[in-house]
Amino acid sequence: MAILPYISICEIIIDIAMHEMSIAINIVDIAVDTALKSDAKKINEIVVDIGRLAGIIPESLLFCYDSACKDTIAEGSQLKLNIIQAKAVCDSCGFEFDADSPVPLCPKCDDFVLRVNGGRELKIKSINVD
Ligand SMILES: [Zn+2]
Repeated sequence: MAILPYISICEIIIDIAMHEMSIAINIVDIAVDTALKSDAKKINEIVVDIGRLAGIIPESLLFCYDSACKDTIAEGSQLKLNIIQAKAVCDSCGFEFDADSPVPLCPKCDDFVLRVNGGRELKIKSINVD
């Protein structure tokens, strides 16, 4: 039967979406709290730094954002994502490059690189309010 694999894939997709949805809700919660404390009436834009290796799919987060904003002062606002690169330095040859995985391969000498700096951050950089 070919049914089980399809069910598993669906569950994985739902899990991934739930992950980004809960992150979107967290971002909106923090931004709304911060905005209300500054007597703001409306949030226009939230800028978020998001690392390449933070385990978050930017497209999914953007997709979930509008729903997370519904019925809050952030409704109708924009989410702007600054993608932060992870920097790797090869121990074997010293080559520096942008890493796209936590343990990338050095493009110069094909060794695995264990030293990766940054790229795991997730933080609200600024909130534009009225
Ligand atoms: Zn190397």
